[in-house]
Amino acid sequence: MSFVSNYVAAVPPSMTLAVTNAAKVLKKQGVDVFSFGAGEPDFDTPKHIVQAAVQALTEGKTRYTESSGLLELREALAAKLLIDNGLQYDPSQISVNCGAKHSCYNAIAATINPGDEVIIPAPYWTSYPEMVRLVGGVPVIIETKRENGWKMTPDEFEDAMSPLTKMIIINSPGNPTGAVYTKEELQAIADIAVGEDILILSDEIYEKLVYADQTHVSIASLGKEVADLTITINGFSKAYAMTGWRLGYTAAPKEIAAAIDVLQSHTTSNATTFAQYGALAALQGDQQIVSDMRDEFDVRRQYMLSRLGNIRNVKVMEPLGAFYFLVDIEAMGINSVNFCEKLLSKQKVSAVPGQAFGADTTIRFSYATGLDVINAGMDRFEEFCAQH
Ligand code: PMP
Ligand code: GLU
Repeated sequence: MSFVSNYVAAVPPSMTLAVTNAAKVLKKQGVDVFSFGAGEPDFDTPKHIVQAAVQALTEGKTRYTESSGLLELREALAAKLLIDNGLQYDPSQISVNCGAKHSCYNAIAATINPGDEVIIPAPYWTSYPEMVRLVGGVPVIIETKRENGWKMTPDEFEDAMSPLTKMIIINSPGNPTGAVYTKEELQAIADIAVGEDILILSDEIYEKLVYADQTHVSIASLGKEVADLTITINGFSKAYAMTGWRLGYTAAPKEIAAAIDVLQSHTTSNATTFAQYGALAALQGDQQIVSDMRDEFDVRRQYMLSRLGNIRNVKVMEPLGAFYFLVDIEAMGINSVNFCEKLLSKQKVSAVPGQAFGADTTIRFSYATGLDVINAGMDRFEEFCAQH
């Protein structure tokens, strides 16, 4: 007999974290690993943000805040969402959570009943279907196509719908594809969702990482009807290199925001208090640091595109957002888990198997790592592909 609940027993651990941790362990053992696993900026958190958290600690800001987060921070987030995203939220509609991963879980747990269907376009971020399963919901996966830029078409959305559909998850810019939906594409999705009364979870964590001539559009900015159905999610991990701080947030229609508050008040209470002061400094400080990091990611993106584009037997699409390449390995005739195991054991190059993203003929490289690692790692990957 197992004491583990059925919902948890049915869910595997996060492969993105497992691959990242395995590379860290090997490195600690002195193995020279070229790690492309981590979906984690390699930059340090900017100093003024660290200083603000240190100052909060020394000033004794070590007690609980409101469970939905410091009012000052939620006011600053409301201002950010208005200025950057054209979204009108009262601070009471915003909840600060322990990472955007927690925000996604809160949004799903606050709205999904057992048996409700949640549409998720694949390749998807690994945790979405598992979060849906953890609350007894049913993930309905749409297999998007590389020739469509890994983006869901309106027809695919309509075909996946059933009377049980409660929510669709949109992640633009997307992990692991790097796809960025245009305003027109989002409008078409919004029109369908509004017509059918379907909630939209819009995960915008990679908002600040868009390249070439792309601009990020928040789907909730496309009108009141769609805003009334959308939970906008964002966080500090990617834009401000604050992964370990564990800070994300939801902005939602009033009824859902209140439900998220209830859930959080009984589960985590507030996100760490002094970390929230760091987040406030991140929002209020100079935003040049955000674009400087983006520019550095772009240099790596372009270099890696030039390398991957010249490797035989693999195909890539130019990613226009986030910091990943999803590499099509179908021609190699080997599944993604075996491929990544061999790549790691033979060449000491670590990547995430596409199986984690519902795309077993692909592997994911993160370029949140230095150019020297990218250069040497791509040499090794090229050699590996030539031998297989
Ligand atoms: N959404 C997506 C698409 C992600 O890639 C990540 C990666 N960490 C998250 C949410 C969660 O971010 P965090 O919990 O670090 O804020
Ligand atoms: N989101 C990152 C990734 O996809 C970090 C790991 C995780 O949170 O899953 O690699």
